[in-house]
Amino acid sequence: MNGNPDSNNTRSAADATLLAHDDEAHPWGAVSPPVVQTSLFTYPSVAAMRASYDGTERKPIYSRGDNPTVQIFEVKVAALEGGEAARAFASGMGAISSAVLSVVESGDRVVCVEHVYPDAYRLFQKLLPRLGVTVEYVDGRNLNAVRERLPGARLLYLESPTSVVFHTLDLRALAAAARAEGVMTIADNSWATPLFQKPLELGIDLVVHSASKYLSGHSDVVAGIVTGAQAHIDRINDLTYPYLGAKLSPFEGWLLVRGLRTLPLRMRQHMQGGQEVARWLQGHPGVARVHHPALRDDHGLLGCASLFSIELGNGLDVVRFCDALKLFRLGVSWGGYESLAFPAMVGLQQAAGPNSLIDFGVSEHLVRLHVGLEEPADLIADLDQALGFAMRP
Ligand SMILES: *Cc1c(COP(=O)(O)O)cnc(C)c1O
Repeated sequence: MNGNPDSNNTRSAADATLLAHDDEAHPWGAVSPPVVQTSLFTYPSVAAMRASYDGTERKPIYSRGDNPTVQIFEVKVAALEGGEAARAFASGMGAISSAVLSVVESGDRVVCVEHVYPDAYRLFQKLLPRLGVTVEYVDGRNLNAVRERLPGARLLYLESPTSVVFHTLDLRALAAAARAEGVMTIADNSWATPLFQKPLELGIDLVVHSASKYLSGHSDVVAGIVTGAQAHIDRINDLTYPYLGAKLSPFEGWLLVRGLRTLPLRMRQHMQGGQEVARWLQGHPGVARVHHPALRDDHGLLGCASLFSIELGNGLDVVRFCDALKLFRLGVSWGGYESLAFPAMVGLQQAAGPNSLIDFGVSEHLVRLHVGLEEPADLIADLDQALGFAMRP
C-alpha cells in the first residue's frame, strides 16, 4: 500500500543520516548540542530586543516560547514526518490537547476512532463537552461508517494502529474522505514512529506523538510533539501552546535528540523481536488471540513496532500469568528498552471514568505486551514459563 520495499530502504537510510547529523554547527564545535538551560534570553540593545519581538529576527525570547535545544528536536521530527514545522510539548497529552483545542470551537462536532488512547478519550468525554464540543466514535476500519459521520464535522481524530487492540486503519482513504468534506484530520503516530508510517504523506493534516515512547526510547522522558503544515502549527502557537504552558524542558529536549540518534537501530530490533515473540505466542495453545499488525498482510505500514496484545484462553489465569513473568515487568507506557506487560483487567477497574476499555469492550483476558531490546529467545522462555504457571489448576 505504501510503495515498494526498495524505496522504503532508501528512505530509512536517509532518516538515519538525518538523525545522526544536526543541521547547524554547535558552539566550540561540540559534536553533541549544548543543553541551553535558561529561562530567558538577553539583548545588547533595545533595537535587538525589538527585532525579536516584532518578528524581524527569529531569536528566542523566553523558554515558554522557544528554546534552542528543544528546537533541534522539533526540526528533526518535522523533517522525519515531512512537516513544515513542529511544536514540542511536556507530554503527549499536552500535544494532543493543544492540537485539538487549536482546531475546535463551541458548536463543533468531532469524529473519533474507537480504541483511541484512554486519556485522549477522557479529554474528549470530560473537557470537550464543557466547551460545547461533541464527539462521536466510529470503527475506523469501516470507511463507509466514517464517511457517513463526516458531513458537518470539524475534526476527524485518528490513531493507527489504535490503542490496546491495534486495529490498523487506511489513513490515506480516511484523509481523502475527510478532505472531501472539508474536515481537518489529526493522527496519533506514536506506535509506528515516523520510520514506519508517515501520515502527512498519506494526506493527514497534523501528526501528534507521545515522544515518551519510542522517540525517546529509554523510559526516562515524558514529552510530546505535533507536526504538519506551517499554517496549522501557527494556529497552535497562536491559540494554545503559549497559554496552556505545556512546554518541553531543555534537558528533556536534549535527551530526545540523543534518543533519536538510535531510533532506526532500535526500531529494527523492536520490529524483529516483536514479530518473533508474537509468532511464538500465536502458536501457543494457551493463547486465544494475538493482536499484532505484523500478523496481518494488509497492515499497510512500512514496518511494525513491538507493542501488541494477547488474549489468554479460557482456563488461564491472567493474574497468575502476569505475576509469574520475570523479564517482562508490570507497568504502563512502552517504547523503552525494557519489556513490559499490562493486564487490561487493571485498566477495566480504574476508578476515574470515563473508561475507554469498558466503553469499547476490551476483554478482561487481554494482556498488552511491549517487547524491549532483550534477546527474543529469553523473552519467549519467560512467557513460556508464565503461561505454564497460569495453566496449572
Ligand atoms: C502514551 C500515549 C499518549 C500520551 O502520551 P504522554 O506522553 O503519556 O502524555 C498518547 N497516545 C498514545 C497512543 C500513547 O500510547
